[in-house]
Amino acid sequence: MQLSEEFLIGKFRPSGEEILAKEGLDSLYIYYDGKFLRGKDAKVSPYDPGWLNGYGVFEGIRAYDGSIFKLDEHVERLFDSAKGLALEIPLSRSEIKEAIVLTVRKNQLRNCHIRPVVTRGPGKLGLNPRRGVRPSLLILSYPFSPTHEGKPAKVIISSVRRKSPSSVDSKLKSLSYVDFIVAFTQAAALGMDDDILLDQDGYVGEGCGDNIAIIKGKRFSTPPPTAALEGITLRTLMELCPQIGLSPDYRQITPLELYTADEVILCGTGAEIAPVAEIDGRTIGSGAPGPITKKLTEEYDRVVRSEHLTPVYE
Ligand code: PMP
Repeated sequence: MQLSEEFLIGKFRPSGEEILAKEGLDSLYIYYDGKFLRGKDAKVSPYDPGWLNGYGVFEGIRAYDGSIFKLDEHVERLFDSAKGLALEIPLSRSEIKEAIVLTVRKNQLRNCHIRPVVTRGPGKLGLNPRRGVRPSLLILSYPFSPTHEGKPAKVIISSVRRKSPSSVDSKLKSLSYVDFIVAFTQAAALGMDDDILLDQDGYVGEGCGDNIAIIKGKRFSTPPPTAALEGITLRTLMELCPQIGLSPDYRQITPLELYTADEVILCGTGAEIAPVAEIDGRTIGSGAPGPITKKLTEEYDRVVRSEHLTPVYE
């Protein structure tokens, strides 16, 4: 057989370039190791354990009406996650914030999702952190609608358990989302919108990329962040609770308490506030977004546009 530059290329249709172009992602700029590159030109190294092994960390941030919400908190969490993997981010906190602002500005976006990603960077393969030459930093920003788009979600409790601190701390926001991917695959196969992961002891942990909270009477409860990420959206909602007459608390929650709650929500930067209509075939409340969920959503929509903002355009 003759060797050439291509082999069975026809099996790889549509091409990556075609897919990106269709989604409008080919022309958006990405900040990648100091340069702003178009999506179609930004090529990640095949020798980066970031994508070979999930060896890296990331954040999901949102901008509303031209300002970034709680940028400081997201950057702080990115540095904490990086420390967990002993990754030295090449930029300081303030430099990374500037790079994030510039990436959004370069893309002329006003409402978008922003994803800074730190990987171990290209170099000798393997899991040994000492082999790292220099971590890589990518910042993506793109339009992104809330995951469930306000539609009450039908969910199941997954057979996949959220990790406990005896494994890898769930507060470490690493690139390895395989547990959530397997859980989500199960939910999708059953025609469900999402799912909930319990912790190792059978108490509620979190959703697939979002936190969970229940409302019963005047009480807003969420699991302690031992088998869940410490969500910035969740913290924002807990801060809003007193002004709408709710008392927030962290406590262990059982699956039965989910079924019997007045209202259940999933929340996260990407999901925003997603009301849960059904869990394991049990209708939650009336199945429609409840009054507290509506009130919290209203307040959240106000806060993300008026407090803790970093303007993108001066
Ligand atoms: N849990 C997981 C596993 C997540 O990926 C996210 C999204 N970052 C959340 C919870 C929600 O966190 P936040 O509100 O900070 O976006």
